[in-house]
Amino acid sequence: MTTIERNLQAVRERISRACRQAGRDVTEVTLLAVSKTFGPDAVRQAHAAGQRAFGENYVQEGVEKILALREGVPPGAPCAPPIEWHCIGPLQSNKTRLVAAHFDWVQSVDRLKIAERLNEQRPPEHPPLQICLQVNVDGGPNKSGVAPSELHALAHAVSALPRLRLRGLMCIPEPSDSFEQQSEVFLRARTLWDQLRAGGFELDTLSMGMSDDLEAAVSAGSTLVRVGRAIFGSRTAQQATSAA
Ligand SMILES: *Cc1c(COP(=O)(O)O)cnc(C)c1O
Repeated sequence: MTTIERNLQAVRERISRACRQAGRDVTEVTLLAVSKTFGPDAVRQAHAAGQRAFGENYVQEGVEKILALREGVPPGAPCAPPIEWHCIGPLQSNKTRLVAAHFDWVQSVDRLKIAERLNEQRPPEHPPLQICLQVNVDGGPNKSGVAPSELHALAHAVSALPRLRLRGLMCIPEPSDSFEQQSEVFLRARTLWDQLRAGGFELDTLSMGMSDDLEAAVSAGSTLVRVGRAIFGSRTAQQATSAA
């Protein structure tokens, strides 16, 4: 068994345990493997071990990997078994065209201008781009993410764009060692998500939780955890190896 396979199994067990403790069904939580900084071979290994959804932060790097994983697959046909690619990093206007052409999801939409560009640039032969709005739940002034007070207006505008499909919210709270503190911030995101759903938005995705805080996120209602290091190992060690 490869390290990645073993790590994946351990992460899946953490998710199942967290679901059991929260009285949730394990099928309610999707695992997104965050493969940023790791090469196509790491993705292939995880894919061979049953992983289907992958997250990338850097557009150029992500597109290169998407194309590498499609090698030998006829144009227009899906990979077998299919891979779902999520863009989870901050998005600049000059990168939206590449994202719209290659990714299946964008979780980091935090302003209308970016959403409008993705909508215009999504190729007509592809299904609508699946969207999460990134929300700044802990209020840091320099952080990406829409302010909670502006979330409803953004959700309203984005859901009117025909080539996008609004699926939910994503948040990246400041790291904390305390389960209580982690939970408190995740519950704020959960409340915003509940409010939008109560307001008529058909959302099914609450993307929160990473390697160090996925248990708190699952207990607060996360439906998608984004896990990098616990699957692929430490990124600095990896970068040092690949630079050597
Ligand atoms: C890197 C990253 C992750 C994964 O973080 P780990 O701590 O490696 O699990 C999740 N979400 C986003 C937005 C990231 O940038």
